[in-house]
Amino acid sequence: MSTPEVACPTCGALAAWSPSNPFRPFCSERCKMVDLGGWFEERFRIPGQPAPDADGDGDQPSPTAQPAGHETLQ
Ligand SMILES: [Zn+2]
Repeated sequence: MSTPEVACPTCGALAAWSPSNPFRPFCSERCKMVDLGGWFEERFRIPGQPAPDADGDGDQPSPTAQPAGHETLQ
């Protein structure tokens, strides 16, 4: 088998998925920066609005809540 390839998320070109491609899954540094840049831009565009899943404000079940009766049986 040859080097596996993945579609670059930015431009769709096939990018080598191997240690020789430090930008994987992107095909190049340019595509990687484009993707990261857009990502950061979107975050900065929302001032003072926390992501709904970024803070546990109590409007969702706490992930730390343990179901009853699931402790170690003795
Ligand atoms: Zn690309």
